[in-house]
Amino acid sequence: MSTPITVAYGDGIGPEIMEAVLLILCEAGAKISVDVIEIGKLVYDKKWSNGISPSGWKSIERTKVLLKSPITTPQGKGHRSLNVALRKNLGLYANIRPCISYHPIIENKFGKFDTVIIRENEEDVYTGIEYRLTSDSFQCTKIITRSGSERICRYAFEYAKKHNRKKVTCLTKDNVMKMTDGTFRAAFNRIAEKYQDIKAEHYVVDIGMARVATEPGNFDVIVTGNLYGDILSDIMAQISGSIGLVGGSNIGSEYAMFEAVHGSAPDIAGKNLANPSGLLNAAVYMLIYVNQVDAAKLIYNAWLKTLEDGIHTADLYKEKSKRKVSTKEFAEAVVNNLGKKPRILPEFIISSNSGDSKVSKIRYDYEQNYKVRKLVGSDVTLAWNKSADFDQLVKLFESSNLKVIAIYSKGLAIWPGSLKSSSDQVTCRFIVNNEKRTVTNNDVNDLLIKLEENSFDVVRMDKLYLYDRKEGFFV
Ligand code: NAD
Repeated sequence: MSTPITVAYGDGIGPEIMEAVLLILCEAGAKISVDVIEIGKLVYDKKWSNGISPSGWKSIERTKVLLKSPITTPQGKGHRSLNVALRKNLGLYANIRPCISYHPIIENKFGKFDTVIIRENEEDVYTGIEYRLTSDSFQCTKIITRSGSERICRYAFEYAKKHNRKKVTCLTKDNVMKMTDGTFRAAFNRIAEKYQDIKAEHYVVDIGMARVATEPGNFDVIVTGNLYGDILSDIMAQISGSIGLVGGSNIGSEYAMFEAVHGSAPDIAGKNLANPSGLLNAAVYMLIYVNQVDAAKLIYNAWLKTLEDGIHTADLYKEKSKRKVSTKEFAEAVVNNLGKKPRILPEFIISSNSGDSKVSKIRYDYEQNYKVRKLVGSDVTLAWNKSADFDQLVKLFESSNLKVIAIYSKGLAIWPGSLKSSSDQVTCRFIVNNEKRTVTNNDVNDLLIKLEENSFDVVRMDKLYLYDRKEGFFV
């Protein structure tokens, strides 16, 4: 019986590489029945703001598996990223990107490496929540949850265990983002304790990425947040020889999506030049996910043999290559090699593959982890003109239940003191005047009304809480 899968040809080089990949899947006897949907530019043009139509969603809801080519994300008003929409709507919380160097067949500067990047896929700044605050300032919201962080870290350790990996490295910027990245790192530490046989280490993301980019062979499994993971996987793909090589899986508890790491490459679209390997690898992970390991193995080995034969698309073509081929010719060469095995490269590196339904079934529910939450104040952001007077503002609230204890400009305390705001917005921290009194929502409402009545231009408000007496806010 064949497995139904939804296929999307995408934009730019998408259709060329998808045709090449489907030819190989078909010739390898993969038992799949394909339901083609439109995504990307054509759909955006028809005014579906997510780049996918209701019938597209229906197909994915039915098959639960999507093989997707890249799309061109339109710039401008009203368009939302299709990739972000798919990952969030389908609950695809884990993005797994195996980055392998194929040394010595594909030239790269670092020799042999085989590193799997596990990127959190639903949170972070990729939630796309952004605001314009004033004429000068804009704000992007970074959301990190304990449950989401634990779930992805647990996924990474389960993956390492299942695939006989020895080490999991976590990358965060918790020295600066103590609450958000601190939560991710704390989750990593908690989960790591449960996997004593697997080495766990942490790097601050800047030095961590520098190390990965210069000594990739020292890294095994890397788990990190959405933005860092996105950047890191492009770097790793590029240093492995070509961005066109790496494929990835997006896994959730119900759905899965498989795609190349690269984008729609408009510069080479329609020229039959693109390397279809990234999407082909993604398709191999998909076959493993739908329990067609034999077909996956057949294709992967034929692909390795093709690379070994020196049959390379333009992005990989170097001195040692034998034939420079088009997208279509590359696919035909892989088809001709079906049934053959590589001689130098390790055949079917199952430990580096990702589509693993068992690992994907991790569910994580959030639970309350504090006893008492107490409202103690509010941060209020104001549009601010240069001649305005901080002392006048402070004086206005001197005898109120909430008084100003500090004024910040982009996180820098400028009052008390004589520093000036470097932008047209300031954030005032209001804290309860008398610690014995409780703060209520009405106090916060009164505060906002009083500000407005006195012509202060409120553009944002955040409540300040203590969680079991511990501050739930930083600046
Ligand atoms: P890109 O990955 O499309 O291209 C970067 C460079 O790599 C280009 O020079 C391109 O020619 C080359 N390249 C990419 N894939 C290749 C392949 N398979 N074979 C040979 N060369 C290849 O990145 P970009 O130019 O920054 O983005 C182009 C568009 O793709 C943008 O609209 C972006 O938003 C979108 N994008 C989509 C996805 C996705 O759908 N998953 C991912 C990333 C970017």
